[in-house]
Formats: sequence, C-alpha cells, structure tokens
Amino acid sequence: MPSFVIAEKCDGCKGGDKTACMYICPNDLMVLDATAMKAYNQEPDQCWECFSCVKICPNQAIEVRGYSDFVPLGSSIMPLMSTEDVVWTCKFRNGVIKRFKFPIRTTPEGQANAYPSLKGKDLDSPLLSTEEADGYKMPQPTMA
Ligand code: SF4
Ligand code: SF4
Repeated sequence: MPSFVIAEKCDGCKGGDKTACMYICPNDLMVLDATAMKAYNQEPDQCWECFSCVKICPNQAIEVRGYSDFVPLGSSIMPLMSTEDVVWTCKFRNGVIKRFKFPIRTTPEGQANAYPSLKGKDLDSPLLSTEEADGYKMPQPTMA
C-alpha cells in the first residue's frame, strides 16, 4: 500500500524549502501543501513502497502498510533510524508490539568508498566505469 501522511504528526518540516520526504523520494511523489503545512503523496499509484520517506521523516508522520511478505497482515510497522541502526517497531493486530534492530552500515559514516578503482579519475566521463579511453570494442559476430 502506498505511503500516506498522518496529518496530525506532519509539521511540514517547519517550512523549509524542501521537506525531508520531498528530498528523499526517488519518484518525486511527495509535495507540501504550503497553506496547511502538510505533505502528501501526490500520486499514490506511482509509489513503489520503498520506505525511504518513512525512514527519513523526523516526526514518524508517514506510514506504508507492508504486505504479508514483510509484516504480518493487519499489523503496522514504523522504522526509527539512528546513525548505526534501524529499529523497526511492529504492532501486531492483536496489540503485541515487537522491535527488531538491525545495523545499517559496516563502515563509519562518511567513509564508504564505492569506487576505489576510480579514485582520482573523472567520474563525469561518458565512459563506463571499466571502459578504456580508447573505447571498448564489442565482439563482432562471425559468419559460419
Ligand atoms: S518529512 Fe514528515 S514532517 Fe516533514 S513534511 Fe514530510 S511527512 Fe511532514
Ligand atoms: S515509499 Fe518511496 S516511492 Fe513511495 S512516496 Fe515514499 S519515498 Fe516515494
């Protein structure tokens, strides 16, 4: 089920130029109603339920109802991020609450380097990451 904003909890990120949920949504779905100072998902059909907005919202004002491969049907789930962990609080439909804590990174914040072999090279180059400057030549089919 797509993301939805719990209006009572949303403070519009206190009126910044761009709210946290607008910043993070990979599909540019979140918008702010500047009059009401509430965000909302402008196109729920396009939401792929990635939970990014749910995780980043400082007020835990966004919910996504997970499918049963992720959480039990009828339950609700809310993540709380820290710099090292994410704690998922799952409230089951019978009222039981359980929390699950996972590390979110294996290197200290700011030190991950996804491209060690490209260090010092031009990441803006139109070439692919392993492509040589003189061009990679596709193998050509041979006639039998
Ligand atoms: S990140 Fe949360 S508090 Fe900020 S505008 Fe979006 S829903 Fe509202
Ligand atoms: S769940 Fe993902 S795709 Fe859907 S609105 Fe939030 S950030 Fe965007």
